[in-house]
Amino acid sequence: MPIRVVMACFFVLGASLSCAAQDKGTLDPKPLPPLAHPSDPQTPAKELFGRAQDAAALSPDSIGFYSHGCLAGGEQLPINGPNWQVMRLSRNRNWGHPTLIAFMEKFAAKAAHASGWPGILIGDISQPRGGPMLTGHASHQIGLDADIWLRPMPDRELSREEREELPSTDVVREDQLDVRADVWTQGHFALIRAAALEPKVQRIFVNAAIKRAMCRAAAGEPWMRKVRPMWGHNYHFHIRLFCPDGATCRDQDPTPSGDGCDASLAGWFSEEMLRPRKPGKSWPPMTMAKLPAACQQVLKAP
Ligand SMILES: [Zn+2]
Repeated sequence: MPIRVVMACFFVLGASLSCAAQDKGTLDPKPLPPLAHPSDPQTPAKELFGRAQDAAALSPDSIGFYSHGCLAGGEQLPINGPNWQVMRLSRNRNWGHPTLIAFMEKFAAKAAHASGWPGILIGDISQPRGGPMLTGHASHQIGLDADIWLRPMPDRELSREEREELPSTDVVREDQLDVRADVWTQGHFALIRAAALEPKVQRIFVNAAIKRAMCRAAAGEPWMRKVRPMWGHNYHFHIRLFCPDGATCRDQDPTPSGDGCDASLAGWFSEEMLRPRKPGKSWPPMTMAKLPAACQQVLKAP
């Protein structure tokens, strides 16, 4: 495994990204063993939410914050649509707020049109009841974040096995300074642009090398402010929606004005950012006491 992938994984501890996007799944997922003391207040919340198999039968709500909350009344994105297929089904992370699910279904068609691809491959959204996860992602907790692969959907239905095994495409160069010229396409650009143009999209995370490539093509465009550099995100990009009307979540601060193609982007390519010498800070796992109180009801609901 290339060293930089290992480094990216260290950052998972301290930053809102996943190095697990490329991890293969299995056709035969084993249920997690029951917890000996699930009501122990020290139980990490990820152990509880990671065991929820179905949505909480409550009215839909995204509760808390993207990296600190849960999901009531989650809806499951169908695994196939006219312009999308869901990957890594064994993870059971294709659940979201109904607003996000409806958005993805509509956006998939626009994405296909913009990119010229048959459709998009969709990675993790949220767990059935949202909440922290046992692997990957600091965010994706309230059903408003979704990962889209940087690999076109093929013009056929993928088998269950392919959905667990197929890798996505790494569009970033080994030195992390730019995209791979032979891999990055106008289709990738058009897909991310289409997402950024959507009014419901609050921000998008891409690898800094992708942001750099997009700055070459679209500096000064108003939608570019939504395209934010982040570690990882070289195999997929990440869409985050605003809190829907009526939901109790807290919106993230607005993205800074300007296209983000300035010194703030250059900073991502410093030696320290690209090759950190020590792993990111890690926090003790979140317990239920640290999540909004309403997440207790989400866990207990039928
Ligand atoms: Zn993501």
